[in-house]
Amino acid sequence: MSSIKHHLNDALLMGYSAGTLPEAFNVVIATHVSLCDECRARLEAFDALGGTLLDDVDEAPMDERSFASCMTRIANADRVPVPAAPVTDLPAPLAAYVGGCLDAVSWRRIGGGVSQAILKTSKSATVRMLRIPGGVEMPDHGHRGTELTLVLRGAFRDEQDRFGPGDIEIANEDHVHHPVAEPGEDCICLAASDAPLRFNTLLPRIAQPFFRI
Ligand SMILES: [Zn+2]
Repeated sequence: MSSIKHHLNDALLMGYSAGTLPEAFNVVIATHVSLCDECRARLEAFDALGGTLLDDVDEAPMDERSFASCMTRIANADRVPVPAAPVTDLPAPLAAYVGGCLDAVSWRRIGGGVSQAILKTSKSATVRMLRIPGGVEMPDHGHRGTELTLVLRGAFRDEQDRFGPGDIEIANEDHVHHPVAEPGEDCICLAASDAPLRFNTLLPRIAQPFFRI
């Protein structure tokens, strides 16, 4: 999808390649990679580099020549197939978690017209789908830890930028923002976080434990 403007960073791609991230993050990263040629190419380079470093583990520290040969091997590495074509109306890595297509998602209302569906993953982080009606603002929140939000349908804006289909927003502790779904169709996102969101208003904070957000 060539219209993607917001991509994964190197740290997340490396963590995904090395298998060190929580499952919830892997779902979001794999889904973005399935939509994004640019991140798929970068991931393949990290996969090849990881394999090369393992191959060379008994050899002397890398000098300039072995670095050059490493880069050549990366360029010549076999391409790891990542499913690019959606088999349903959802990207393939996500469809497996949801049980098929968008209609199969069990939405649960969380107030303000917003619905969510928490996907089943290991407990170190959570990942959920969010459906936000056009023009509706998400509760005002900051973050503890890291939150990844991938847009599947529609779009949202915050103070800094616009995020459309395929775009991924990477938010951290310093990032307090006011995301609002663009007017029009519902904005459907996939969001993973490794800590509960820190809501700034009282009511969502009270409701937080009930909704695991
Ligand atoms: Zn990307």
